[in-house]
Amino acid sequence: MTKITMAHGSGGRATGELIEEIFAQAFDNETLSQMEDAAVVQGAGKIAVTTDSFVVTPLEFPGGDIGRLCICGTVNDLLMRGAIPKYLTCGFILEEGAEIDVLRRIASSMAETAAEAGVEIIAGDTKVIEGNGGIYINTTGVGFVPEDVDIRADLAKPGDVILVSGNLGDHHATILSQRMEITNSMESDNAPLVEMVTRLLAEKIKVHVLRDVTRGGLATVLKELAVSSGHLFEIREESLPVSAQVRDFCGLLGLDPLYMGNEGKLVAIVAPEDADRALEIMRSSKYGQAAVRIGEVCEADGDGRLVLKTRIGGRRILEELQGEGLPRIC
Ligand code: MG
Repeated sequence: MTKITMAHGSGGRATGELIEEIFAQAFDNETLSQMEDAAVVQGAGKIAVTTDSFVVTPLEFPGGDIGRLCICGTVNDLLMRGAIPKYLTCGFILEEGAEIDVLRRIASSMAETAAEAGVEIIAGDTKVIEGNGGIYINTTGVGFVPEDVDIRADLAKPGDVILVSGNLGDHHATILSQRMEITNSMESDNAPLVEMVTRLLAEKIKVHVLRDVTRGGLATVLKELAVSSGHLFEIREESLPVSAQVRDFCGLLGLDPLYMGNEGKLVAIVAPEDADRALEIMRSSKYGQAAVRIGEVCEADGDGRLVLKTRIGGRRILEELQGEGLPRIC
């Protein structure tokens, strides 16, 4: 059998074999192998919980696949609240006709990324529906928040420095290239940012806000943060990190890297006295070599404007992404 059939969703022998051969083998750990109706694990004082569904096409792309992506997306959302990611659950929705070999590669990519991020997959579910070979994954993540950590959007203060951990738009441009069958050497940046965030916390950097730069891109993320905090945010166009390839690609298609999504980049808003140290930590982390300072949080303005200071000295007001972005990039 090379493809998923409705029998794999029956709950009977075929389902058992699929779970045993693919998921149990890839995700093997003590909690999961008990195969109980619910996982029972040790807890913590403050826990962070997040959930996300992944519907990206294509399922496999340069630099990653839906398996790596679903772990990174969930782990990174936990980290953005200062939580140390601990446990994940995953729910697979498989369309009839899905390739079993592809599913096996996705499961092994999930296992590898979970190991890199230091999380355990402790519960899961599989359903099969009629369709055309699609694979969709929902992941829920649980992380432990250290007692003294409080990171959230409304803690941004005037004078705080805005840092971004690397080049904008890589994931988005890669998925778009694949869909348009454009050949280039771009790769998705999908990555778990555990090392970067845990080091910032361990070094007692005064991190006020963290947010991963995903759908909607940097402009959308910063606008949301500005509105939540009620402060004016200013960023400099000349400081925005974009690879030459993504810049050319965007130029060709009339796209703006400020609105292109990543899956392994974050924005950190930190106290001014800690900005240089934070940047050093980010740059010496595995996925942060191209980290830069891009702007500052300014005075309270009530409505949270986001202003881009352009190369030629102008001031452009940025809003969130309007209308449709590229669908199904994550
Ligand atoms: Mg997020």
